[in-house]
Amino acid sequence: MPSIADSALAVVHEHILACTACPLHLRRIQAVPGTGEASARIMVVGEGPGETEDRLGKPFVGAAGNVLTRLLESIGLRREDTFITNVVKCRPPGNRDPEPAEVEACSQFLDAQVEIIRPDVILVLGRHALARLLPGSPGITQVHGRQVVRGDRLYVPLYHPAAALYNGSLMRTLEEDMLRVRGYLDAAGEERRRAAAAPSEEARGPAVPAAASAPAATDPRHQLSLFD
Ligand code: SF4
Repeated sequence: MPSIADSALAVVHEHILACTACPLHLRRIQAVPGTGEASARIMVVGEGPGETEDRLGKPFVGAAGNVLTRLLESIGLRREDTFITNVVKCRPPGNRDPEPAEVEACSQFLDAQVEIIRPDVILVLGRHALARLLPGSPGITQVHGRQVVRGDRLYVPLYHPAAALYNGSLMRTLEEDMLRVRGYLDAAGEERRRAAAAPSEEARGPAVPAAASAPAATDPRHQLSLFD
């Protein structure tokens, strides 16, 4: 039987599939709400669907998606452990950047997904997702691989896998940043277990899968708190 969160997420996705709130609906094959369970502890947010995603109705299923899958697996995660979505849910024509008005029109859906899932960590892929989720942040070249705390949410900006596809040095940076993500996830899971053990606080969701090895999540060089 689906949980209340699963049902709420399904309602949001029905609205996305029928949405005509911005011009991106005119040339889409279909909207791409996202994949994963409402119980996912890790959320991955990219920019927008590409040609393959538009055709198949799933995010990150092309070449960049293969990179994302490999990166997740490198730290002991499966795609199924995550909820994967984009800033805009419909493909910008020719894979152009989404317009600010389109991002704004679609923001209600991403906000709703984050609110329902309440993930431990949000992986922010690329500069468009960074601008949408962490407005006012320094650029991706400055914050990639670091923890950014805003309110009660933890974000980790990363280079977009598509940008790293044909750039070996960027790929190595992305791989190193993912190792840091493993440490952050372990720390977040431990924090949640502590909260669950406290009698006055509510537990939610399964623990984050364990890592074989990870750098210390509390290394101050990799923490930012830009919005406190
Ligand atoms: Fe609606 Fe978002 Fe698609 Fe625009 S991109 S039509 S706001 S679902």
